[in-house]
Amino acid sequence: IIRVENLKKQFGNNVVLKDINFSVNEGEIITIIGSSGSGKSTLLRCLNLLEYPDDGKVLYNDISILESKHNTDKLRAEVGMVFQNFNLFNNKNVINNCILAPMRVLKLGKEEAIKTAQANLEKVGMLDYALQDVKTLSGGQKQRVAIARALCMNPRVILFDEPTSALDPEMVGEVLTVMKQLAKEGMTMVIVTHEMSFAKEISDRVVFMDEGIILEQGSPQEIFNNPKNTRTQEFLKRFT
Ligand code: ATP
Ligand code: MG
Repeated sequence: IIRVENLKKQFGNNVVLKDINFSVNEGEIITIIGSSGSGKSTLLRCLNLLEYPDDGKVLYNDISILESKHNTDKLRAEVGMVFQNFNLFNNKNVINNCILAPMRVLKLGKEEAIKTAQANLEKVGMLDYALQDVKTLSGGQKQRVAIARALCMNPRVILFDEPTSALDPEMVGEVLTVMKQLAKEGMTMVIVTHEMSFAKEISDRVVFMDEGIILEQGSPQEIFNNPKNTRTQEFLKRFT
């Protein structure tokens, strides 16, 4: 679905992505691991143009998204994103958070948007909270709403940037459970995470990033049980 070729991105003199080649296939679950500052978030953000690459190509369904005439709204509808800090409207209730973009971008009527939102809130176990303001929810509940909101756009892929890093430990599980369920249903997912046992369990492919390059990628078996690169080995040692 997505292919990245020779992607480069720098902020001032700080070269953050050096020469990234990477692809995401339909139905695939990819996890991206690596140290803080290695460029994981920047790579994800380049996939839906929250950051604009300096060089290289990003292809979505074999079409370059870096052309000026490419429709960014449509791209972001099809390539959903879930953030570490939820990015929900705190002063709106749950259902309004979920119907906003479908009405604005997909031009759904309100009734239809509400139906879609209810179905997706049900799926993440948050339908009972539909009329509550987001600010009254726990972190785990907020993140499940954020996932439901992403699903309401009927995306082809969802990008997750450390979806459990801002959560109290007791709330991590409920979010990971929802993500496992989506994986089981065949959703294509790219997940930046520090939850190594989750990554091992869920991934079709694990990508290890280090200082702006993809140093190694492979099956969870290959990366976790038999990492080839010494930097990968050192990184993984921290989690054992
Ligand atoms: P973390 O695990 O801490 O989230 P990361 O792997 O996601 O790290 P990035 O957020 O992609 O890393 O950041 C990579 C580098 O790019 C860092 O040095 C960061 O300071 C820099 N950077 C990221 N976004 C910006 C920005 N908007 N402006 C300037 N520098 C940035
Ligand atoms: Mg990050």
